[in-house]
Amino acid sequence: MKYISTRGDPHQRSFCEILLEGLAPDGGLYLPLRYPNVDAATLGYWRLLPYPELAFEVLSLFIDDIPPADLRSIVAKTYTAEIFGTHAITPLKPLEPGLSLQALSNGPTLAFKDMAMQLLGNLFEYELARRGETLNILGATSGDTGSAAEYAMRGKHGVKVFMLSPRGRMSAFQQAQMFSLQDANIHNIAIEGVFDDCQDIVKAVSNDLEFKRRHKIGTVNSINWARLLAQVVYYFAGYFQASKSDEEEVSFAVPSGNFGNICAGHVARMMGLPIKQLVLATNENDVLDEFFRTGTYRVRGSAETHETSSPSMDISKASNFERFVFDLLGRDAARTKSLFKTEIEQHGSFAIGQEDFERIGEFGFVSGSSTHADRIATIRDTWQRHGVMIDTHTADGLKVAREHQEAGVPMIVLETALPAKFAETIVEAIGVEPPRPTAMQGIEQLPKRFTVMPADAQVVKRYIADNV
Ligand SMILES: *Cc1c(COP(=O)(O)O)cnc(C)c1O
Repeated sequence: MKYISTRGDPHQRSFCEILLEGLAPDGGLYLPLRYPNVDAATLGYWRLLPYPELAFEVLSLFIDDIPPADLRSIVAKTYTAEIFGTHAITPLKPLEPGLSLQALSNGPTLAFKDMAMQLLGNLFEYELARRGETLNILGATSGDTGSAAEYAMRGKHGVKVFMLSPRGRMSAFQQAQMFSLQDANIHNIAIEGVFDDCQDIVKAVSNDLEFKRRHKIGTVNSINWARLLAQVVYYFAGYFQASKSDEEEVSFAVPSGNFGNICAGHVARMMGLPIKQLVLATNENDVLDEFFRTGTYRVRGSAETHETSSPSMDISKASNFERFVFDLLGRDAARTKSLFKTEIEQHGSFAIGQEDFERIGEFGFVSGSSTHADRIATIRDTWQRHGVMIDTHTADGLKVAREHQEAGVPMIVLETALPAKFAETIVEAIGVEPPRPTAMQGIEQLPKRFTVMPADAQVVKRYIADNV
């Protein structure tokens, strides 16, 4: 399998060439040259497999430059009951006939990002050892991504993590999750500033190409293809649990921000998984809902980006969205480039034509959005009627899922985080403190390991240079 850029770079690459990369050199995103087709016989066989073997089968269709025995052992050590809580890894939790949650948040940081990041950690360690190289991951986080990256990379050979976060602006729990890590290869840097300052520093460092090359700086952001690929697997796992035979169709509702999670669902559907609808749910930051309702994609400025009670979906633009548009436009790289480079850079928005808009239905996408009041009502209703406690992001997904439910088509809502991460809103909704997994109890009291720095790229660079 070779990989191409959505903006037409003529060079085709293999999986391990793009594994450690973010954007393609032309600014586009990587996608496989074509989607492998999974036929009925294969689906029938996959239905019987435990999660790690299913993951191996799916990944093998996209990765041909890691020997199968190695890939199998990487996957087997990633998707274990010790790390993800159950042998099913992503079990369905039925709410009512035809409606279930798929548990994706039982990994070390209690959010679905662990599903991909844990695999990425093991793939990075493997590939770096094979090349005899090292990598220093630099990132900025306001919470979920940074902790998932640190828990995936902690103790890994050949990898160091330098994670910037805005000092005092994460929840006590999120801060404790990251700062309590004592692994020598994890560097928490608390910046005197806001999240945007952290991101600006990452950009400034990455734009210094000489520094970047000399210190082998890399990233693990959500546009990484391997992360997206890891997420394709659980759509298959969810489908098999919700259906009895491969003639049935199932729909998925996905709480969305950067469009990574639902893009994995799109890939699964393109491979032939019988997905009826991909229900995209946003919060008040409805950039994507607006596109799927109107055909206009308009990125927001920071003044227009709301801080909500489902903060991991508070985005102003969706960094993976270009992948879907490329497919929607029949993989026309020139048009994709003109929309995302020219139109977005000059006008901050683009509108697709009527014909393209009408084709969205062929891809199964529908959408909706949710507000704080909707989240509170949904969390309360789910607690009262089903005795199930859900987090704020999952509540956005469930609210929009109900608007698109169809008779006879099971609907799976992806549970993207556990309520323990967002205790304040849960207490507001139901007056009950969400339970914490045993391993997370009292983490706020653990010794913290972090370095405070001013919002100054030079200071951060010096720290990196001293510590790589
Ligand atoms: C990251 C995140 C999302 C959004 O996922 P995307 O892949 O960015 O669309 C939703 N919910 C939670 C809890 C998250 O951490």
